Amino acid sequence: MIMKKSTISVRSGLNSDAQHGCVVPPITLSTTYNFFELNKPRPYDYSRRKNPTRDVAQKTLSDLECGTHAIMTSSGMSAIYLICSALLKPNDLLIAPHDCYGGTYRLLDALNKKGTCKVLFINQNDTQMFLQSLAYKPKLIFIETPSNPMLRIVDIYAICKSQKDTLYVVDNTFMTPVFQNPLILGADLVVHSCSKYLNGHSDLIAGVVISKDAYISDKLAWWGNTLGITGSAFDSYQLLRGIRTLIPRVHQQQNNTKSIIAFCQKQPQINELYYPGLSVHPGYAIACKQQSGFGSIFSFELKGNKNVLLRFLRSLKLFTLAESFGGVESLIAHPATMTHAAMPENVRKRAGISDMLLRVSVGLEDSDDLITDLEQAFSSIQ
Ligand SMILES: *Cc1c(COP(=O)(O)O)cnc(C)c1O
Repeated sequence: MIMKKSTISVRSGLNSDAQHGCVVPPITLSTTYNFFELNKPRPYDYSRRKNPTRDVAQKTLSDLECGTHAIMTSSGMSAIYLICSALLKPNDLLIAPHDCYGGTYRLLDALNKKGTCKVLFINQNDTQMFLQSLAYKPKLIFIETPSNPMLRIVDIYAICKSQKDTLYVVDNTFMTPVFQNPLILGADLVVHSCSKYLNGHSDLIAGVVISKDAYISDKLAWWGNTLGITGSAFDSYQLLRGIRTLIPRVHQQQNNTKSIIAFCQKQPQINELYYPGLSVHPGYAIACKQQSGFGSIFSFELKGNKNVLLRFLRSLKLFTLAESFGGVESLIAHPATMTHAAMPENVRKRAGISDMLLRVSVGLEDSDDLITDLEQAFSSIQ
């Protein structure tokens, strides 16, 4: 039976316990499993390699992304590291967007310097530069769309059909499997930080790599076990709990965002407003083609100087100044000093991240209250 995503996210793994008839799949904490007899192991032998609770989480994530296999990892970063370790050799080239997630930039830059693989950061919105970079025969092209924090959009389908013998990997953390399915658009692998919308409650760090190919997935599983970066049973259990409400959460967060964006469009203290759901956004047409929603993250550039920025942030009562996004609570971040502080200043400037840029993750509070909070913060800087 082919099920819709709401049904998958709610029902995955339910009623699978034969012993007690638990409705919710129980958490299996045992690290080790007895053998039937010598040379007759069960499917499970040691939880680093394979764990029943993690298996349910992996199946759920794979089904939501329309994949066939998933490896859950200890974090989003370890998911990206797993891909590089398992699939790249020292002379293989990885091409990544110059405005990718700050932690991804730090990891790939370090792996490049260390010689694990070669890495080239480019502006993937610059078609000419992108086509030129193909001449270097990249082994892997890493895509992040919408990008963080500028919400730039690239065409997943167009990039994924650009060259054979290249692995296309999409970081789909921003859109979640609810609004975008890169495997259907031609990607080989999808990676998520489950720490964001998938868990949705800002109380868990985890990641996942989803594939549609048994050979690649076996390699990833082997390396995941060998490196020891698979997700824990506790985290798998908690993540499944979060995923059951994923669909209504992201839709309500998106509805709140629509109201807040309409309010922000009328704010004279905003220089630039970045949200792919605005028809003036340069990526709007592609977003409409490859996404079924625009999500609940936007960023804007405040007019004025550092003092104005400080006053604005101090005035906010409902938007918490914090990194991360995708939880039920609304957050605001200053990318230049927080999420993207690991990027050298010239790289950050080239990526368009100014010192007056703020990124907002809209939560599940009442949108009227959120707008009232923004309204008083904007009045405080008039
Ligand atoms: C947070 C994030 C990551 C890293 O995930 P962690 O779970 O924090 O390790 C990677 N990519 C994107 C787009 C992210 O937002």
